[in-house]
Amino acid sequence: MRKPFVAGNWKMNTDSQSSVGLADGIACGSMDIAGRRVDVAVIPPFVYLQAVVRTLNGAHIAVGAQDIYYEQKGAFTGEISASMLKSVGCVYVLCGHSERRHVIGESDELVNKKVTAAICSGLLPIFCVGEKLQEREASQTSEVVTRQIRNGLAGLGVEKVSAVTIAYEPVWAIGTGLTATPQQAQEVHALIRRLLGEMYDAQLAEEIRILYGGSVKPGNAADLMRQQDIDGLLVGGASLNADDFVAIIKAAAA
Ligand code: PEP
Repeated sequence: MRKPFVAGNWKMNTDSQSSVGLADGIACGSMDIAGRRVDVAVIPPFVYLQAVVRTLNGAHIAVGAQDIYYEQKGAFTGEISASMLKSVGCVYVLCGHSERRHVIGESDELVNKKVTAAICSGLLPIFCVGEKLQEREASQTSEVVTRQIRNGLAGLGVEKVSAVTIAYEPVWAIGTGLTATPQQAQEVHALIRRLLGEMYDAQLAEEIRILYGGSVKPGNAADLMRQQDIDGLLVGGASLNADDFVAIIKAAAA
């Protein structure tokens, strides 16, 4: 049995006060279930990580970072290393989010270095993959997702990959209000699980969690979670409202 996992990516939103208020609202609303029936993480901007970690002390909600640099330390102005993230209490880190791939221009190779650095330093990567609209329309979803997974996990053995959570996020569904139907999402999740079985082994494929992301809202979370291979949700916009995010956490725990 894979325990459900819901993560909220705050992207470049909130400020020093509202980040703490949002974390507090989520902690209060999910007190009875977070960490018990469902794993929960919030992923604030770097500058609010410490304040959010302090606010969530004792709440059984993990904190993650939105990105990482693969070097340990040195002359990399503006970058943040895995050990820095660990030292402020981060547990998870997003790697290869579509906005980093398609707005900032990160390649599969760079994402692979980040996933590797995260695992080697004891962080748990949430490794994001997903096709663009024109790729789906050209029936290239399977090819694109397979390439992103093979390249993103290159060089990592079964033990290291077991630290990874995969997030399937079709780019055309992120922040657009368009959600993949539960069937469309299930189809790709099943494909990813099959691929992991081929690349590693049946046990890893069975145990690894695959989240869906892309305009998840309180109204569609339960239908998505009912799919056999959807183990949780990566939530952007709706994670900025404590009531909505708590409703999604409850739907995942049900
Ligand atoms: C995301 O940021 O990963 C995401 C899925 O965003 P949204 O829920 O707003 O589509």
